[in-house]
Amino acid sequence: MKTALVCGAGGFIGGHLVKRLKKEGFWVRGIDLKFNEYAETEADDFVIGDLREQSVVRAVVDRKFDEVYQLAADMGGAGYIFTGENDADIMHNSATINLNVLDACHKRNIKRVFYSSSACMYPAHNQLDPDNPNCAEDSAYPANPDSEYGWEKLFSERLYLAYNRNFGMECRVARYHNIFGPEGTWEGGKEKAPAATCRKVAMAKDGDVLPVWGDGLQTRSFLYVDECIEGTIRLLRSSFEGPVNIGSEEMIAINDLVRMVIAIGEKDLSIKNIPGPVGVRGRNSDNRLIREKLEWEPSQSLKDGMEKTYAWILEQVKRRHNYPKAA
Ligand code: NAD
Repeated sequence: MKTALVCGAGGFIGGHLVKRLKKEGFWVRGIDLKFNEYAETEADDFVIGDLREQSVVRAVVDRKFDEVYQLAADMGGAGYIFTGENDADIMHNSATINLNVLDACHKRNIKRVFYSSSACMYPAHNQLDPDNPNCAEDSAYPANPDSEYGWEKLFSERLYLAYNRNFGMECRVARYHNIFGPEGTWEGGKEKAPAATCRKVAMAKDGDVLPVWGDGLQTRSFLYVDECIEGTIRLLRSSFEGPVNIGSEEMIAINDLVRMVIAIGEKDLSIKNIPGPVGVRGRNSDNRLIREKLEWEPSQSLKDGMEKTYAWILEQVKRRHNYPKAA
């Protein structure tokens, strides 16, 4: 039986990845600081532990796993990453996790480790034009990420590739672009734009005004989580080390995303743009490299993914807040 270790298995993408690996017949160990809040884990063994502790990481990496997925990171939405208030934690915690996991894998002679970098590592100066951002993989240098979160991702990408070069490992590096879907954080401050928008629309009543950070003309693309998992697994098992974008090329302005969700929720709402942390002006995945190297790319429409996500968040809102209340 093949074995896999998922670091960050209590998180959003990690939870979905465990499910997928179980479907494929793997024996799966997960590790995280916490269980997933929204779904019972399907991992055969789930360790609650802190990957910043070397001794914990060595104990968890106790065998030669066939596949290791390193998704654990100190992260959140724009409200967590772009305010500057959490920079020291973000850099220290995530870098320590990556240093520990990679070294423990190397010492067990594990070859294949997947690392989830982020589109946040792309230079800010290539993302000033909302209609024409440049996120081609080879545009990463000279580096100029707009957040310390992005700088840590860049450092860790290089760390994984250095272990390939110097120690014969076969790590795989992907740059995720805004992953969304059910069973992700949808309230509390660490949620991202798709989930936050679904929550606001689900909780609103006709006639309400929805506050949206920035002028709403900033653009992004969003990838449904099932396709992220598909790309992740394909990359890990391919002969291409990356870094490669895993994202959607369906770019949308944030106000249009909000309008899409309002239509899905069948509500009569208007938008008010307010000052807030927004990040770069434009960002879109560039899928030329993944098409070439993996002969695959995501294909699901944003609307299909948002419909599934809205339905799930509406359920959560009803359960948690008993809302909207019966008239
Ligand atoms: P998430 O926050 O839901 O999952 C990360 C998990 O890591 C959390 O469950 C957290 O508890 C765990 N973790 C943090 N510190 C830990 C520690 N010290 N020890 C053990 N576990 C720890 O995030 P996600 O959306 O599932 O993202 C997974 C990975 O993908 C992250 O590395 C993230 O940076 C990257 N990524 C995600 C997106 C996205 O849109 N979701 C975009 C780009 C990159």
